[in-house]
Parts: sequence; C-alpha cells; structure tokens
Amino acid sequence: PAFDELGLSDKALAAVRDLGYQRPSPVQAEAIPQVLAGRDVLAAAQTGTGKTAAFVLPTLSRLRHHRKHEGPFCLVVTPTRELAQQIVDVCDTVGKRTGHRTVSVVGGVSYNPQRAALSRGVDVLVATPGRLEDLIGSGDARLDQVQVLVLDEADRMLDMGFLQAVRRIVAACPHERQTLLFSATLDEGAIEGVADLVHDPARVEI
Ligand code: AMP
Repeated sequence: PAFDELGLSDKALAAVRDLGYQRPSPVQAEAIPQVLAGRDVLAAAQTGTGKTAAFVLPTLSRLRHHRKHEGPFCLVVTPTRELAQQIVDVCDTVGKRTGHRTVSVVGGVSYNPQRAALSRGVDVLVATPGRLEDLIGSGDARLDQVQVLVLDEADRMLDMGFLQAVRRIVAACPHERQTLLFSATLDEGAIEGVADLVHDPARVEI
C-alpha cells in the first residue's frame, strides 16, 4: 500500500512528506491501520525497521490536544536516552503538523526544566523508566489522562532490569487505554512479565 491508503489524517500525511518517506515500511503498513482502529498491538520489530513512525503517525492522527496543564494523553516508555531522543525528533516533526506538544523526561539531566515542561501541559510524553518514576513520585508527572501507552523495545527494558519500574508506571495509567508493545522479538520469554499488559492485541511480525 501507499501511505495515503492507510487511513492517516491529512496532517499526518503532510508530516510523512516532511519526513521524506516515500512508501511505508512493512511494520508501518501492518501496524498503522491497527493503531488507527484502536486495537492494542504486539509488534516484533527491530530498530531500523521504521517502528518509531509506525506508532507516532497513527497515534498523532487520532490524539486529542491538551488545554492548560493537561496531559499527557500518549506515553512512550523507552529504555535509553538515545532512543528517547530519536522518538522525540519524530514526534516533533509530526507534531508540527498535527499541533501536538511532546516533552521528554530522561535521566542524566537536571529535573527542573523537565518539571517546568510538564507543568505547561503536554500531549505526548517520551520517558525512560527511572526518571519517569521519580517524577511520578514527586507529583510532577501524572498519568491519569493517558489514552495511548507505547512500550518501546520492551525486551531491552526487561534486559536492563526495568520490569518492576515498567509495571509500576503502567499501573499509574488508566486501565482503559490503548497499549502498543514493540519488541525485537516476541519469542517466549523475551517479553515475559509485560505480555499481559496488552488486551486482545493485533500481532505484527515482519
Ligand atoms: P526506526 O526503526 O524507527 O528507528 O527508523 C529507522 C530509520 O528509518 C529512521 O532513520 C527513519 O527516518 C527511517 N524510516 C522510517 N520509516 C521510513 C520510510 N517509510 N521510508 C524511508 N525511511 C524510513
């Protein structure tokens, strides 16, 4: 299929042109319609397959917009600062068209700018688990308005020892939500401990 056959909003399609993508990658072609339909998704996709746009484009096609002090409505949890930055870059490019604001909270940098950014209202929050837990604990990050939860590189988060942190973060999100879980592999064991966080998922394996 072509990008304009997947059901994306006109603003998201404008963002596709800004990103310079000609045709959807296989994970995008499979995942985008499922995300737009509101389904939970369990996707096996390595870095380099286009998985970031596979969740950012359809999510921002549908996501509501914050008013003062509201949000986030979409939470992306990812294992490292580097991955968080790559996701923020795509969110910023797409958000420029769709009008969504993205904030990132990652470790290794000071808290106050992140606190200030959160307090202004946010549509998409991109976070690493440790720092997000700190900001939930201090009351600076509130997840009770999250409608879409993305667990990026879930297998790697588990390898890094983030199982309990991820589960506590998910527990702070509403039960009624859409959950998208991306992992390099969906093999038995690779996502043990988080596979139960998706409900009747569409499986995407490329
Ligand atoms: P990711 O798997 O999300 O880390 O993306 C890997 C790389 O592929 C990034 O540099 C993207 O900009 C690029 N990319 C993603 N989707 C497409 C596409 N449909 N066409 C061309 N390049 C893409």
